Amino acid sequence: MALNVLVVDDSAVMRTMILRTLQMTQIPLGELYEAENGREGLEALAEHWIDLAIVDINMPVMDGEEMIERARATPETAGTPIVVVSTEGSETRISRIVQKGARFVHKPFTPEDLRDVITGLVGEVS
Ligand SMILES: [Mg+2]
Repeated sequence: MALNVLVVDDSAVMRTMILRTLQMTQIPLGELYEAENGREGLEALAEHWIDLAIVDINMPVMDGEEMIERARATPETAGTPIVVVSTEGSETRISRIVQKGARFVHKPFTPEDLRDVITGLVGEVS
């Protein structure tokens, strides 16, 4: 089963970097979607079948934390695996995100870091 992945980040450069890193994990990928902020991310989650969302925290319009809260409050996406990638250093904020059911990966990260956290969330994909 290939994973359909949504990447939500306000930086186009970062989205490209995340997608490139994802491709280096060797995880079989299906459809790849991009969104620039939390609101667009929620729209993508509503429109497409997404197996995994990789979400930035600091974004205009709607930040990653609010996006995760809203996704969790929606039955269809309450259980969608979410990985937060950020330079965020606040332990309080990180633990708040983890309590909402997302995994956290610090930027910068290697393909191995990303692979470990994804397989931890969704299991081995083959
Ligand atoms: Mg950002």
